Amino acid sequence: MIPAAQRAAARESASPWTTIVVGAGAFGAWTAWHLLRKGQRVLLLDAWGPAHARASSGGESRVTRATYGADEVYTRMALDSLADWRWLSDRAGLPIFHQTGVLFVFPRKEPYVTQSLDVHRRLKLPTEALTRAELARRFPQIDSSGIEVGLYEPGFGALMARRAVQTLVTEFVKAGGEYRMEMVVSPVEPGGRASQGTPVESAVTAGGDTLNEVRTASGETLRAEGVVFACGPWLPKVFPATLGNRIFPTRQEVFYFAPDAGDRRFEPGQLPTWADFNNGDIFYGMPDLEARGFKIAHDRHGPLFDPDRGDRTPSAAALAEVREFMKMRFPVMATRPLVESRVCQYENSSNGDLLIDRHPAWRNVWLVGAGSGHGFKHAPAVGRYAAELASGTLETPEPRFSLASKGTVQQRLVH
Ligand SMILES: Cc1cc2nc3c(=O)[nH]c(=O)nc-3n(C[C@H](O)[C@H](O)[C@H](O)COP(=O)(O)OP(=O)(O)OC[C@H]3O[C@@H](n4cnc5c(N)ncnc54)[C@H](O)[C@@H]3O)c2cc1C
Repeated sequence: MIPAAQRAAARESASPWTTIVVGAGAFGAWTAWHLLRKGQRVLLLDAWGPAHARASSGGESRVTRATYGADEVYTRMALDSLADWRWLSDRAGLPIFHQTGVLFVFPRKEPYVTQSLDVHRRLKLPTEALTRAELARRFPQIDSSGIEVGLYEPGFGALMARRAVQTLVTEFVKAGGEYRMEMVVSPVEPGGRASQGTPVESAVTAGGDTLNEVRTASGETLRAEGVVFACGPWLPKVFPATLGNRIFPTRQEVFYFAPDAGDRRFEPGQLPTWADFNNGDIFYGMPDLEARGFKIAHDRHGPLFDPDRGDRTPSAAALAEVREFMKMRFPVMATRPLVESRVCQYENSSNGDLLIDRHPAWRNVWLVGAGSGHGFKHAPAVGRYAAELASGTLETPEPRFSLASKGTVQQRLVH
C-alpha cells in the first residue's frame, strides 16, 4: 500500500491531468464532462474549437429518435441521452432540445417497423403506429402517397447541435474543467507509419504500453494518466495504422428551404422531424426550427471526403435530388427558395456501429468515434460509457463498440 502523501507526490510530478480529451465535438465534450463529474482533473483540447464549421457536430440541428429496428442498444442510448439533453437545454439561454415529435414513414410494414415497435413496447415508449389515412389526417402537409405505415415518437425531436456542444464546453469550464484550443500532434503508433495528408505532423513516438503525453502543434508537451481521442472524422488521420481503413468519412449535403410567408404548416408543432424510408433510399428532415428553414437531406453515404481539404460547395445534383423528392412528399416546398446549405461529413464505421474502445497498443488510450451519421443524439451516453471505461469502472467494452468488430469494407447495417 503506497502512503497517501507519496501517491500525491507521484501524481504531482507525473502529470497535472488525470485525462486529456482530444476533440471537443459532441463525443469528446460529453466524455470530458462525465470524467470531470467522476472527480478527475480533465483537459479538453480542440484544434479549431467546439463544433466548428468542419466538425461533424458543427451543423445547426440533429435528429434524436429511439426508432432503431431491432438495435435496442441504440434505442436505450437515445433514451438515456434525452435526459442529459433536456438538462443541457435548461442550462442554455436558448433551446437545445425541440420536442417536435419524430415521424418515420415506410412504403411497407417491413421487419424494421415491427422490430422497432416491439422494442418500444418493451421499454414502455408511447410510439404510435399510424395508417396512411391517419397520417393524411394528422399531417396533411405530407403527401402520404405510397406510404403504408408511419411510426410517430412524441417524446423525441431535434437537437440544436452547435449550440449544444458550445454550451456543454462552457458548463465544463464553469464546473472546473480546462479547455484549450490546441492541435494535438498524432502519436506514432507502434509499428505504424506516420500520418499522411494532414496538417497534423506525426512526431510523438511512444514506447511501452502506455502513452502519457501528447505534443501540441504549438510545441507544448502535456502529460496525463490517460488520453481519450474523440477526433471524429479526423480519427483515421490521427491513427492511420489502426483506423485508416476502418473509419470512412463521407460527403453529406444538407439543404434548408424557406416556407411561404404566413404558411405555418412547416413550423415545429405542425410538422414533426421526419424520415422517409423510401424503399431503403432514405431522406430525412426537420420543421422550420427557429425560422432557419425546412431542412432536408438524403441519407445515402456520399463519396469519401477529406475533412481538411474537401470542397464544401453544395452540388447542383444533390439540390436537384432533394427538390425531386420534395415534389413527391412535400409538394408545397418543392419550389420554395433555398435559404442555406451545408456540406458536412459522416465518419462511418463499416456497419454503422460506434467505436468506444482502447487503443490496441496503449492501455491508457481510448478511441471514441464513428458516429456514422447517427451518433449525435447518443453523445451523452457515449461520454458516460467512455468515462467509465477510461476511469476503470467498466472493464469490458460492449462488443458492438469494440475495435475488433470494425471491418474494413463499408456495409451499412445500422439505420
Ligand atoms: C450532415 C450530418 C447530419 C447528421 N445527422 C445526424 C442526426 O440527425 N442525428 C444524429 O444523432 N447524428 C447525426 N449526425 C452524426 C453526428 O453529427 C456525428 O456522429 C457527431 O457529431 C460526431 O461527433 P464527434 O465528436 O465524434 O466528431 P466531431 O464533431 O467532428 O468532433 C471531433 C473534434 O476533434 C477535433 N480534432 C480532430 N483532430 C484533432 C487534433 N489532432 N487535435 C485537436 N483536436 C482535434 C476536431 O477539431 C473536432 O472538433 C449527422 C452528421 C452529419 C455530418
